[in-house]
Amino acid sequence: MPYSEAVDSRVILTRLRETLAEPGEGQERLDRIVRLIANGIVAEVCSIYLKRDEVWLELCATEGLKPESVHQTRLRVGQGLVGRIAERADPLNTADAAHTSGYRFMPETGEEIYSSFLGVPIQRLGEVLGVLVIQNREKRVYSEDVVYVLEVVAMVIAEMAELGAFIGPGPMEIGRPHSGPFFSRGVVGQEGVAEGRVILHEPHIVISQPISDNPEQETERLNTALAALQDEVDRMLESTHLTASGEHREVLNTYRMFASDKGWIRRIQASIESGLAAEVAVEKEQSATRARMSRILDPYIRERLHDLDDLSNRLLRLLAGINADNGRDVPDDAVLVARNIGPADLLDYGRRLRAVVLEEGSVGSHAAIVARALAIPLVIQADRITREAQNGDRILVDGDQGLVHLRPEESVAAAFREKMDMVADAQEKYATLREKPATTADGVTVSLHMNAGLMADLPSLNKCGAIGVGLFRTELQFLVRSTVPRRGDLAAVYDRILNAASGKPVVFRTLDIGSDKVLPYMRSVDEPNPALGWRALRLGLDRRGVMRMQLQALIRGAAGRPLHVMFPFVTNLTEFETARDMLLTEIDREDGRGHPVPADLRVGAMLETPSLAYAPGRFFDLVDFISIGGNDLKQFFFAADRENELVRRRYDTLSTSYLTFLRMIVDRCTRHQTPVSFCGEDAGRPLEAVTLAAIGMRSLSMRPASIGPVKALLRSVDLGEVLKVIATEMNGNVESVRPALSRWMSDSGIDT
Ligand code: PEP
Ligand code: MG
Repeated sequence: MPYSEAVDSRVILTRLRETLAEPGEGQERLDRIVRLIANGIVAEVCSIYLKRDEVWLELCATEGLKPESVHQTRLRVGQGLVGRIAERADPLNTADAAHTSGYRFMPETGEEIYSSFLGVPIQRLGEVLGVLVIQNREKRVYSEDVVYVLEVVAMVIAEMAELGAFIGPGPMEIGRPHSGPFFSRGVVGQEGVAEGRVILHEPHIVISQPISDNPEQETERLNTALAALQDEVDRMLESTHLTASGEHREVLNTYRMFASDKGWIRRIQASIESGLAAEVAVEKEQSATRARMSRILDPYIRERLHDLDDLSNRLLRLLAGINADNGRDVPDDAVLVARNIGPADLLDYGRRLRAVVLEEGSVGSHAAIVARALAIPLVIQADRITREAQNGDRILVDGDQGLVHLRPEESVAAAFREKMDMVADAQEKYATLREKPATTADGVTVSLHMNAGLMADLPSLNKCGAIGVGLFRTELQFLVRSTVPRRGDLAAVYDRILNAASGKPVVFRTLDIGSDKVLPYMRSVDEPNPALGWRALRLGLDRRGVMRMQLQALIRGAAGRPLHVMFPFVTNLTEFETARDMLLTEIDREDGRGHPVPADLRVGAMLETPSLAYAPGRFFDLVDFISIGGNDLKQFFFAADRENELVRRRYDTLSTSYLTFLRMIVDRCTRHQTPVSFCGEDAGRPLEAVTLAAIGMRSLSMRPASIGPVKALLRSVDLGEVLKVIATEMNGNVESVRPALSRWMSDSGIDT
């Protein structure tokens, strides 16, 4: 049969729609489709390969190849020309298939007589579901028009596959998409376990009519949606609360650029002209963007492609008439699933959420900070979760291990519930300890404080049995705004916090920003090594306006009550002296303006860099209290980035070297009579907490949920005995005291 270039996608799509409307099982549908395409494009062969799982592609229908090879011929992703297309998500067009790199001879198909080969991925939103191939004997490269038509047809096949249109009995019992159990191993963002139902931050669009015979109408729908999109972006840009949607100005400017990008819009329009519904036309572009995203390594370009992807999602939602609020109908047992989320959006959902699962995100991201402040279990970097999860799916989130089970099998769910029951039982036990002190069996009392970062945390203060707030991270009030907060607003927040604490002490840590925590209104500085860079107090001392304003707000918020201020990331005596002087100057000024000054002022420093442990004695005399920021201190002690999964768990807090260092700090503080506490995450881990107490730490600050377990363990141990075990190990030649300590605990019948 001679090959002809005259192809009209609209004719093929119209026929395809009729075919799809006919009754029939999955296999019949596929058979009809390959016949129709072969006829429409005048190809001697048309075949559809579908992915059976992550690894295998299977020939599911063919017109032209030997019928007996259907469901017999299988290829791995990456194997042969078809596997290569699936792997790269790129078309392959060759006049001489047998001599094209990667070609694999499959005798059972009889395809060796066909020289020309054109294959395109069947993909939806960047995920390859299969491959569509045409072949001809005559040696020739297919024209761009033919490639385009085949891609358009492949889009429709992908949409239909998504709807489960090809499922049928026998070999076509390929799992209905998004129906079986799915498991993802992510990274711990915030500990805790939860069971609930998925709510997608950005709901998927279901397209039941991928083909349209009225391009004019579709173009009009597209234009209306594009105009609305432009408006939406302009409004966001004008908004004073940019971060209310988690966006930064730079991102929005990129949005604006894409939203009016003629090339992007023209390509979508061309797809509509060729017979696709507007939504599918947008998705076709989105798939191409996602495929590019997976290949590009340059982080800047990748980010911009991400922005384009976000914009496509917005456009799709506008086309489908789904507004952002639809997704906010939060059920009682909601587990939020998102690719990423800004701090303000997450705060909007607030405590209504049982857990959060993100496909991206990092341990130090703003969302993680908010999740931590809200004490919501969080798993980050859960691969493919937004693709797999559907609104309403049952989901189990294990924030302790970073695991997510979507649509779990009953046996998995049962085991998970057992774990949750154990946690709940333990919580009940801890509630009975609420009013009791954390006094060990040998009479040592350790003060347990809680960490907080939001007004909403304060109710936990009484519930968890903490004696005060040992660390109030003040950055959230800065992170969720698009402009520097006003002094009066901040003072009001601090006032409310002190009211809610009803006399219990609250240690306010001044703004700890920089490194990964970038404020939307502060120009971000490109630093080669941000954790060691211009951050926290360093930034505060160089940009004094913001720090002074915050100090004034703290003084006004205290309104004559006692005030505890702590400076983050102090590296030497001079930095502390300078910061302290700034605070004292502000107090003088406020006094001069007639504002009440704090009844009692305590000025502390966070010890987060090893250098401060060796500061001159004058530092220990000058500072009113020291709080060890173990998260940062440990990363600098071991030179292991706290956010880098490859290294962050590599070194043990209970290593003898680290404990020797911590004990030296405690000893110096004791000699200078400087109160010292520990407020990193380790303080909330029972075995670590007991060890810190044993080496002399009498004050610990942790997330509220940890107070119960830590108090229970402290009350059940003889600290003198613990110290003996630790001291023996520290004088010995071992790396860590953990094995001996755990053994001793279990020999003594103490439950950790
Ligand atoms: C720390 O470094 O231990 C700490 C408490 O501060 P952050 O985690 O906010 O850096
Ligand atoms: Mg820190």
